[in-house]
Amino acid sequence: MAWLAAALYMLVHAMALWLPGHATLASFLFLIGAPLLAAAACTYRLVRSWHSDVRIGWLALTVGMLLWAGGMALNMYQEVALGNVDAVPGIAMLLYVLYGVPLTFAMAHPRHEPWYLIAIDGALALLLGYLFFVHTFSYATPTDAPDPAIGSLRLMFDIENIFIAVFALLRYITSEDGTRRGLFRALTVFAWVYLAMAAYINHMATDTGYGALPDLLIDIPFLLLAVMALRHGDEPTRHTPRRLTLAVRAGAPLILPAALLVVSALLVEQHPHLAAFGFIFATLGAGLRGVVMQVRAMEGQDQLDRLARVDALTGVANRREFDQVLLAEWGRARRSGQPMALLMIDIDHFKQFNDRFGHPMGDACLRAVANTLNHCATRGTDVVARYGGEEFAVVVPATPRAGVLALADTLRGAVERIRLASPDGVGQVGVTISVGAVVIAKVDGADPAPLLKAADAALYVAKHEGRNRVVEGQVP
Ligand code: GH3
Ligand code: MG
Ligand code: MG
Repeated sequence: MAWLAAALYMLVHAMALWLPGHATLASFLFLIGAPLLAAAACTYRLVRSWHSDVRIGWLALTVGMLLWAGGMALNMYQEVALGNVDAVPGIAMLLYVLYGVPLTFAMAHPRHEPWYLIAIDGALALLLGYLFFVHTFSYATPTDAPDPAIGSLRLMFDIENIFIAVFALLRYITSEDGTRRGLFRALTVFAWVYLAMAAYINHMATDTGYGALPDLLIDIPFLLLAVMALRHGDEPTRHTPRRLTLAVRAGAPLILPAALLVVSALLVEQHPHLAAFGFIFATLGAGLRGVVMQVRAMEGQDQLDRLARVDALTGVANRREFDQVLLAEWGRARRSGQPMALLMIDIDHFKQFNDRFGHPMGDACLRAVANTLNHCATRGTDVVARYGGEEFAVVVPATPRAGVLALADTLRGAVERIRLASPDGVGQVGVTISVGAVVIAKVDGADPAPLLKAADAALYVAKHEGRNRVVEGQVP
């Protein structure tokens, strides 16, 4: 249906070219109508994708299409109303160039960005637009623009079009998410067809003027975009080449500074100061973005490091961290000659507890026990860890034997006082722990395994002697 409507649009446009006397005016109306249709279709997508972050992309496409339609409307005004092709060429030209700025912004915009990064991109895009403006007016002198000037303008259009087409394709190839693929596919198809159309119009059919057959070519990219936005909004999610995807995602923010550098380079001769400003702003913008991204990456790394050391259920150190701490403290105690102790802790009859109150309640109990142990082992050097299922371990460095045994009994007593609301809501339940404690006055040997073994054996004895108690063991 949409394809048919597009074909019909071009057919009627073709017929209008043969209207006696009014061909130019009629053709202009179709040339303005095509980007307006594309803008309407993009707005439709924008509304449909309001809750996804691709809405910024569809909004940018809409703005780009409106700018282009505005350029064409100005062309019509100067040709039909003023009868003078060169009356206000600069502004029309400017709108054609500016249409690329929102498209560039859409491509530079990665996913899920905080507002201050979008603001940096927005500032870069604005400056880019302004430099385009200056560049366009430095050449588009009202009448006899010299040939090199026209050549330079064409060069700028070519650079812009190739730039957009290549990056749109890259973003399409490397987008995984279906809604983003939909956006970048529409942009890619549009950009490549637009590139071909503009190359033909600018380099081969320059002197034809409006109201002739090449006008039909101009419709094509816009009608294509309209149809794609209406019909093929989203694509299925897909796996993309990982390396390339990461490279493009990381490199996308460079698109705007790079565009700014190119336009600044074009301005060096006419406006050296502005060009310098463009260079500085592009460099600073890219640098600032780099710093922010680096900080965010470091924060992410910190969080991963922390997650790798912490037990997800209870929030205390996990087994891996325990192994490292035990080894490190063992070495430290051996060098310093200070005592070192280990407490192995196991919840009593926890299987029964789980069976009676259910697994979620068992998990809540594990969290409460871990919390209590952590709060009681207050010295900065003590490390509480979850050793396994319902077993905990506490590494206690540089503490005399009496202190270690007192701490063990404090832990036991504190856990005994824990009260959890029972799942039926009527009563309260509690648990007890058994503790195997081993203190080594003088650490010897490279491996803490004997300490672990002795603490485990002491825990076993505590279980057999009736549970809810501390038993001291010895390293043989
Ligand atoms: P004992 O007093 O001899 O230690 O008896 P017990 O029942 O506590 O000992 P056992 O080692 O036989 O049972 C441990 C139970 O701990 C088995 C399992 O149901 C429970 N458990 C282990 N990990 C978790 C966990 O992550 N969440 C919950 N809810 N239960 C766990
Ligand atoms: Mg156990
Ligand atoms: Mg147990």
